[in-house]
Amino acid sequence: MQPTGRRAFCEGYTCYHCEHQVEKVHPVTFYEAEEERNEMLCKDCYAEWLESIKG
Ligand SMILES: [Zn+2]
Repeated sequence: MQPTGRRAFCEGYTCYHCEHQVEKVHPVTFYEAEEERNEMLCKDCYAEWLESIKG
């Protein structure tokens, strides 16, 4: 587990998946072990995630 401190940056966001700093992220909701988790993904990872949930 990574500490979440780096998300405190005011400029940009850190992608949850690839950990790149990006200006704009897409919020997504993961379901893990019956728990809901909201995470931020960059454009590329978001596109991949969309593909993955399509099945
Ligand atoms: Zn990413």
